[in-house]
Amino acid sequence: MTSSTEPRPTTFNPDWEAAFSPGARRLGSNAIREILKITQSPEIISFAGGLPAPELLPIEEVRAAAGTVLDTYGAAALQYSSTEGHLPLREWIAARHGISPANVQIMTGSQQGLDLLGKLLIGEGDVVLVEAPTYLGALQSFGPYGPKYAEMQTDDGGIDIDALEGQLSRLRRAGTPAKLLYCVPNFQNPTGRTLSLERRQRLVELTARFGVVVLEDDPYGALRFTGEAIPSVYELALAHCGGPESSHVIYSGSFSKVLAPGLRDAWVQAAGPMIGKLIQAKQGADLHTPTFNQMIVSELVEIVMPAQIERVRALYGARAQTMLAQMQTHFPAGVTYTAPEGGMFLWVRLPEGIDTAALLLRAVERQVAFVPGAPFFALGGGHNTLRLSFSSATTEQIGRGIQALGLTILEALA
Ligand code: PMP
Repeated sequence: MTSSTEPRPTTFNPDWEAAFSPGARRLGSNAIREILKITQSPEIISFAGGLPAPELLPIEEVRAAAGTVLDTYGAAALQYSSTEGHLPLREWIAARHGISPANVQIMTGSQQGLDLLGKLLIGEGDVVLVEAPTYLGALQSFGPYGPKYAEMQTDDGGIDIDALEGQLSRLRRAGTPAKLLYCVPNFQNPTGRTLSLERRQRLVELTARFGVVVLEDDPYGALRFTGEAIPSVYELALAHCGGPESSHVIYSGSFSKVLAPGLRDAWVQAAGPMIGKLIQAKQGADLHTPTFNQMIVSELVEIVMPAQIERVRALYGARAQTMLAQMQTHFPAGVTYTAPEGGMFLWVRLPEGIDTAALLLRAVERQVAFVPGAPFFALGGGHNTLRLSFSSATTEQIGRGIQALGLTILEALA
């Protein structure tokens, strides 16, 4: 019972905008996630999401591995475990890359790596070099730490290294030297472009000379469906710098696109002091990546994963080819696009003056969706560009979807 003489409970209804930290205020919602919400209705053919083909996800293999893990490890599979990660998995990764497990840290998705590395390497106002365009999720991770972005010029071969050299010199002369360079050299998200061996070698040499830490993000490297594999920037840096402890390149790998993104298993390779700091940051973030998931991945890497990669490559290669053939038939003159050698995406450039954000609304009326390109540019622009994903649409859907998109573009040009 309450009486009128009883004091009212003290309440506090915060002004949340004022309560947020400066970093939190810099966060914005991920434009792509917002777009995905409107394109999720079943009648829409979506080339928007970057999702692995659902029919290829290894359900039975994961079911069997889960049983084996519980039989083998018992309670330890469900217990807290080390922040560094499951040792057999770290050993497997290390052996494949010719390094020590001490240089490998397991992450909860490579997205966590981007966030924690951003936290550890980016101080307020530090100059961070990114490709134009770049992976939107990296911009979202780095943003709260207050970077000052500088965009690297790119062409069909990825980063233009000659232009980069001039840019690094100018930044240094201006007293604002670049601190970190973030890049996706294989089948980049969003463009599908790949950096050539020669450019990778020059990138290593140039960043070593200018004292810039490189973060190489490589979730798609194994998904090559045509052409020759190229050594990673990290591998080239090991040779150039004389080993993992003297390398200025950090490598981020992921099991999301070669096994299953829902397992949230990924890793970072770096020099000892960088890994040591990452362990401290990860302890504060989530203590460790789920023990059970790491053990399952460890069961799958030897036999299941190579077969899975073959299936994924074959399917995505066929789908990319179908999409390119359909674009050739249905897209009007003046529209250009990349022809990726792997991965999940290709990039389309429309004539200047067409705004792909407005085009998306028209496309959705014709039941097809894509991601407008502008959000992938750290410094703005790119309003006439868009990203298409070929990984999760069937041949029939690609045919209908590209035809509908071609009509939408023709209408916008009229
Ligand atoms: N980096 C890039 C370039 C990506 O495209 C993605 C996924 N879209 C990620 C990192 C994050 O992947 P995950 O966290 O699933 O490993």
